[in-house]
Amino acid sequence: MRKDRSKALFEKAKQFIPGGVNSPVRAFRAVGGDPLFIKRADGAFIYDEDDNAYIELINSWGPMILGHNHPMIREAIVRALENGTSFGAPTAREVEIAELIISMVPSVEKVRMVNSGTEATMSAIRVARGFTGRDKFIKMEGHYHGHGDSFLISAGSGAITMGNPDSPGVTVGTAKDTLLAPYNSLEAIESLVAANPNEIAAIILEPVPGNMGLVLPKPGYLEGLRKICDREGIVLIFDEVMTGFRLAKGGAQELFGVTPDMTTLGKIIGGGMPVGAYGGKKEIMDFVSPSGPVYQAGTLSGNPIAMAAGLAMLRHLDSHPEVFSQLNAIGDSLVTGFRSVLDELGLNFTINQLGSMYTLFFTDQEVYDFETAKKSDTALFGRYFQAMLSRGIYLAPSQYESLFLSTALTEDLVGKIVTAHGESIIEVMGR
Ligand SMILES: *Cc1c(COP(=O)(O)O)cnc(C)c1O
Repeated sequence: MRKDRSKALFEKAKQFIPGGVNSPVRAFRAVGGDPLFIKRADGAFIYDEDDNAYIELINSWGPMILGHNHPMIREAIVRALENGTSFGAPTAREVEIAELIISMVPSVEKVRMVNSGTEATMSAIRVARGFTGRDKFIKMEGHYHGHGDSFLISAGSGAITMGNPDSPGVTVGTAKDTLLAPYNSLEAIESLVAANPNEIAAIILEPVPGNMGLVLPKPGYLEGLRKICDREGIVLIFDEVMTGFRLAKGGAQELFGVTPDMTTLGKIIGGGMPVGAYGGKKEIMDFVSPSGPVYQAGTLSGNPIAMAAGLAMLRHLDSHPEVFSQLNAIGDSLVTGFRSVLDELGLNFTINQLGSMYTLFFTDQEVYDFETAKKSDTALFGRYFQAMLSRGIYLAPSQYESLFLSTALTEDLVGKIVTAHGESIIEVMGR
């Protein structure tokens, strides 16, 4: 497999861009080797600058749930383009997408569009603080909420493998208002609440975290958080940037039947364009400027092209509920294949899966929080990643990520991935 052009581009990129990339995990530092520069993608495949084809299991970190370059979304973008690219004024499409999001996501009664998941979470915390008049909030260890200062404290995803979970540049003053709890422990939340009476504005979490690898909530955990928040007047925020419109039409909150006060959205919501959103109860969202005192704005927010792509995506998901059962079936079939390979070889690595999200952890311990996720053999994962890549399978370049399946994965492709997985495991385990 030739990688000359990717290699040359990366060498050049490093002269002009920090680390050669515009987002850290893309640099492949956690798995070794140079990143692939991508020329194009279509359906289940992504193609690098050297024209190698790979089967996609990341899908732009989630958004491309229908596969790449979907004709329906492309068509919506092209049609919108003909009328101009940005107006900085309200448009009909923003009203349509807001109405649709509200009808799909149980907790959302009013919604504000922004340009990324990072913006959504930063804004949601500000609103929760404004609404409650309290400063502190609780986040879970290993959960990632974008790169806002107050979240870069035991953050997941790239922050884990970059080795600077507490980033320089985040002040002690900022960090002191972020309280940390292990995921899946209601006891930890109770003791934080007891130690900070009437001071906690919000609890924010990924209801099904995917940024320390995929981890599932223990039975009763999300319900327990809901009860504590109700009792203490704390705003419960589900960060569904990853899980929204993926685990179900209405995200994890629909699947688990627990309704937060606020929800942050991103990734799929933009159909591949840069979009985020935050929403929630009317009385909370009415605190947002200009109806309320909490300031939040954006020159390109609700951009017409981005809204066209997002609207096409959400309309499709809303009117095709079978997409979710199809995705679940693809996930089940893939993971069943993976498990049978591991069983045959007498290996009991942990696979966490929910629908079209999964992580294979290179540990035989159960993974239910950040501490247990960190038991994984990341060096072994790195070798597995390279073995899969050399067989034409494009995985997330870190142990601490979820994979994201798309409807473009046929049974035939699932079979190919399982075969590559078997060969790769044998290669890296020396069996
Ligand atoms: C990706 C992600 C974010 C950040 O979104 P960006 O668009 O990358 O800023 C926030 N929260 C979660 C759960 C995410 O997965």
